[in-house]
Amino acid sequence: PTYYLYHAIIVGGPFIAFFLAVGFYQVRLQRKLWQMSHKDGLTGLNNRRRFFALMERANTNGPAGVLLMLDADRFKSINDTHGHQAGDTCLKSIAHTLQRSLRQNDIVGRIGGEEFAVYLPGVGKETGRVIGERLTKPIPFRTKGDQCVSVTLSIGAATWQHDISIDAVFARADAALYHAKENGRGRLEVWNPHLLTKEAETSDKLVSFGSM
Ligand code: GH3
Ligand code: MG
Ligand code: MG
Repeated sequence: PTYYLYHAIIVGGPFIAFFLAVGFYQVRLQRKLWQMSHKDGLTGLNNRRRFFALMERANTNGPAGVLLMLDADRFKSINDTHGHQAGDTCLKSIAHTLQRSLRQNDIVGRIGGEEFAVYLPGVGKETGRVIGERLTKPIPFRTKGDQCVSVTLSIGAATWQHDISIDAVFARADAALYHAKENGRGRLEVWNPHLLTKEAETSDKLVSFGSM
């Protein structure tokens, strides 16, 4: 009987090992594909698509929340002065700071080159402002020559009740962000109806220019 057992192990063993190896490889590959389609390669944050999906999910399942749109200030000049690699380090520092400063169920993403977004589910306007304002403090990072430099963020905030679409809340946060840039950068502005009026006027002008 031991003869048959040894025989089975010698013949079957390699097959089992082979299928186990293929299985492991499949799982790893699948995990990698998931990572690549949901996460930003540079910072490891949620990518744009994933951020939208998570935010939509948080809002359908839960109460209203606050959306923050964050844009690095004068980022082009960081690239120009210290090099593209320092720019990348800067983006990673921003991502790290965002992750460290927020709670477990807050959603963080990199939605464009030097643009980030944060969604705070179940948070009211005033708390959102306090949390966002903390993020306008200078964020330090090191250049290749080991020089310590810092970057600030301009932030636009908008509350998301269940009454408007996800695109509309992004447009509001974006209008507030534009306002924060105009008002000197490194600061936070909260959307208010007056801002949208300004925006509507601008788009009206664009329409009339377009038809001229
Ligand atoms: P503002 O304060 O008005 O936002 O000015 P800004 O210079 O930050 O804005 P602008 O849109 O003029 O420049 C953004 C720059 O970000 C331009 C682009 O080359 C750079 N950038 C975008 N993605 C990356 C990236 O992944 N790495 C690096 N190093 N630079 C990037
Ligand atoms: Mg930008
Ligand atoms: Mg910028």
